[in-house]
Amino acid sequence: MKIAFYNPSPKRTQEWIDCLRQQGLVFEACLWQEGDAGHSVSADYAIVWLPPESFFDSVRGLKAVFNMGAGVDAILKLSSLPPDLDVIRLDDKEIGQKMAEYVIHAVVEITRGMERYRQENNARNWLPQPYTYFQEWPIGIMGLGKIGGQLAGLLASLGYPVNGWSRSRKKFDQIRGFQGQSEFAAFLSASRIVINVLPLTDETRSILDAKAFAAMPAESFLINIGRGEHVDEAALLAAVQNGPLAGAVLDVFQQEPLPGDHPFWQEPKIRITPHISGATNIEQATRQMAAKIQAYEQGERVGGIVSRDTGY
Ligand code: NAP
Repeated sequence: MKIAFYNPSPKRTQEWIDCLRQQGLVFEACLWQEGDAGHSVSADYAIVWLPPESFFDSVRGLKAVFNMGAGVDAILKLSSLPPDLDVIRLDDKEIGQKMAEYVIHAVVEITRGMERYRQENNARNWLPQPYTYFQEWPIGIMGLGKIGGQLAGLLASLGYPVNGWSRSRKKFDQIRGFQGQSEFAAFLSASRIVINVLPLTDETRSILDAKAFAAMPAESFLINIGRGEHVDEAALLAAVQNGPLAGAVLDVFQQEPLPGDHPFWQEPKIRITPHISGATNIEQATRQMAAKIQAYEQGERVGGIVSRDTGY
């Protein structure tokens, strides 16, 4: 069996190959590089992260392509991707847990006013601020899938009122569900902290625009751990500077790395992290991939196949 690998970092590719072999999978590895574009390579499976357009022009005979992360937008946007090729996403539980850790940190920073205490520390001031209650901080989660569902459960278990928005109607204990475009504005206006963890699709691109920000309550916050392309960045900057938003915590951006002259760097109400909220656990991910490849070889259906209709 031959597996073609692509990751912009060749060192990272070797880690994936070594880990996959440790799972007991026997295969010939092809480390595809941009210089191989134009040459035809045959392989049974591909395991990729951010492949260029030329990858699927070059690598032929694939039974399935596995993504090294949860978001498959960078694969689906390629016009060279064969229309009937199975694209399989990772559903590693640890990504959701790492993202929950990031979100809980950001939420607590906001709701307990931690930035204010840091400023008072610098001035050696002992200055307790008025207490705020969980009920004052309804949290809205855009996307109630593998990751959003985990976040919603965790935040509700802490005591926050949680609203969730998804394409189909969801029934979760302790979570107020909102569905589809017709309930989007109501969802936003009911949420003082909005967390975006949607997949990037034709329907969700630029969904957080000036109209969406105008629907959010005064002094509300955005936490974006989905994709940068979900946000109209100029509209976000205006909403943070002129209201109604009081701030934003952003892990993803339209251009990454975020350029040094981007106005977000200058805005103290915007907190920036370099796309680190979710971390793939390679050991867990390769265990999952090895099992799925073995299932494929035996003609069994596997979970995590992306719908080409919905784009996630
Ligand atoms: P998922 O399991 O596929 O769930 C997607 C959720 O979004 C579902 O609840 C779905 O609704 C909802 N949705 C999709 N399109 C919608 C629309 N047009 N309107 C309303 N709701 C819509 O995805 P996941 O595993 O939770 O991952 C979500 C995204 O997180 C990934 O695609 C990736 O972009 C991002 N991510 C970021 C990082 C990072 O480090 N920043 C790491 C991992 C993932 P239904 O339930 O009704 O289908």
